[in-house]
Amino acid sequence: MEVHPSETINTIARKRKRNPDKWKKNIAKRNRYSAKSLPTRVCEHDQPAFRCSSIKTTEMLKLHQNFYVHPSKKTQDAIILKLCSIKPIGKRTTSRVTKQTSIKYSVFVGGSKVPICQKFFLSIFGVTKHRVSYVMKKFFYVGEISHEARGGFRQHEKFSEQKQSVKQFIQNLKCMESHYCRKSKCAERQYLPPELNIKKLYNMYKHSEHMKPDVKLSYFRYVFNNFFNIGFGSPQTDVCSTCLELSEKLKLVTNAAEKNALITQKRVHKLRAKAFFDKLREQRDDLKIISFDCQKNLPIPKLPDQICYYSRQLYLYNFTMVEGSSNQPMTRDNVFAYCCTEDEFHKDSNLISSAIYHRLNETDKTGIKTIRLVADGCGGQNKNSIVIAACSKWLLSCSAIKSIEIVFPVTGHSYMPPDRTFGVIEKKLKRQDVILHPDELKEVISQTSTVLQFGDECPVYDWREAARKILAPTTSWRVRFKECKRFILVRSKKPGNILVRGETLYKSDIGTATNICKRQKSISMINPKQINKTIALNKNKLKDINNLLNKHFGKDWPGILTLEYYKNLNISQESLTFTSPPEGEYCHESLEEVSDLRI
Ligand SMILES: [Zn+2]
Ligand SMILES: [Zn+2]
Repeated sequence: MEVHPSETINTIARKRKRNPDKWKKNIAKRNRYSAKSLPTRVCEHDQPAFRCSSIKTTEMLKLHQNFYVHPSKKTQDAIILKLCSIKPIGKRTTSRVTKQTSIKYSVFVGGSKVPICQKFFLSIFGVTKHRVSYVMKKFFYVGEISHEARGGFRQHEKFSEQKQSVKQFIQNLKCMESHYCRKSKCAERQYLPPELNIKKLYNMYKHSEHMKPDVKLSYFRYVFNNFFNIGFGSPQTDVCSTCLELSEKLKLVTNAAEKNALITQKRVHKLRAKAFFDKLREQRDDLKIISFDCQKNLPIPKLPDQICYYSRQLYLYNFTMVEGSSNQPMTRDNVFAYCCTEDEFHKDSNLISSAIYHRLNETDKTGIKTIRLVADGCGGQNKNSIVIAACSKWLLSCSAIKSIEIVFPVTGHSYMPPDRTFGVIEKKLKRQDVILHPDELKEVISQTSTVLQFGDECPVYDWREAARKILAPTTSWRVRFKECKRFILVRSKKPGNILVRGETLYKSDIGTATNICKRQKSISMINPKQINKTIALNKNKLKDINNLLNKHFGKDWPGILTLEYYKNLNISQESLTFTSPPEGEYCHESLEEVSDLRI
């Protein structure tokens, strides 16, 4: 699935959450409108117009405090407005006086208004006469409460066009397909190729059609960080989101009981992860471990051309299965890469199930009683009833094997042997600037693994359709499918059927094996049909690839011998209409539940 960067809300953008309370200008603002000194008695007026001395010192302090309870200028000004009154000077006593208004000052004490002199008023509230006069005059002449004119974002209007241009540029980039991105709880980060960075993107922007001349790198960076949540490189290098969340919570919590609860949760989570890796590491003569995972899609044609960052490319899928415990060395004899291009088969559970079925048939089973399959818990591809159907069907055919156990990792702690080969492959591919033919990719893969071609060496079956007819839907299973970390498959006493036991914990067996078939059906009735190669490619994708080749090799690219592969692709596919892959094939990995403290 093709993904472009999408705008995100500010709180989960690439840049950390902003904290306006700590901004310099806001600290200055708070200081500006907070109390400087305590009020002092500055006069001894005792007359009907100024009853200053009737106000006790405690009342002065109280008035002062009530004023500064409100840190904002606006509320303080409203208080001033309430306490003072302004009126025009009716009759001029001397011609020299230019004042047109006069202000009367008062305070509320015990519910009644007490008139006081200006000096005393200013002392009580610690404000200047200019501030009072400004507030009062503004109200008198303009009829409104003065507002804070300092600060504010004055460049907003001026930059909106530039911002739009940067946003458009970023939205046109091509992210790694969402399937590969493990979903984390707080933010859905999108990923651009690891060789890019903000500066490189900025240079690309400068040469793009969206370019506006006065956008500086710093402004580009600002938009990139604040309106998108984009990272560079592989999401797998990210830390586990559960671990991260618990650590963050631990930093904030002060209550000892809560703190202990969080520490326990974190320990349980870590112990569970360890329990999973113990399963992967175990070495026993009668046990065979096979771990498997999909590599991220490998794009061709790979060219040293920036246009590759915008264009859709053709993908090669690599589904790798590793035989043996994670302590055993990995060679071409126990690492198997099942490959095909996206115009041959859909990357779905049929493909995965077919590879598993093939591997189970081919692997050396001498002396083996139990087979343990280990896969990451991606629902669309690995953790579904279709894979279980294929394993069950195979188990019926092989009487030497007593049981098959399928194990899924703790979300976020799923580094497995196949990931090691993927790392090696990616490193090798990085050194190659130009890759045109899928065979070149397979050549690189074959340096670390035995390459098997889907449809040729490994037939692909429609396990999904076959399983749908026989198996009961997972929602009606006795165990809650999504919460299970292990499935154990054993032969039923009734011939031709398999019982499945789901376990939510790694170290204790508490479930019971049950029948998973519909009424009157059994596993032996699962008979999948073989699927043929070739599916129609997305027309837009073909167009993109065509553009890419046009731009890099010129209009006459179909004449170039090394590009024959794409020529065939276009001609044979162009007339076909695009059929979208079936729904529900994308990764929906559920997050770790840590309220249960068992491992
Ligand atoms: Zn006074
Ligand atoms: Zn974790």
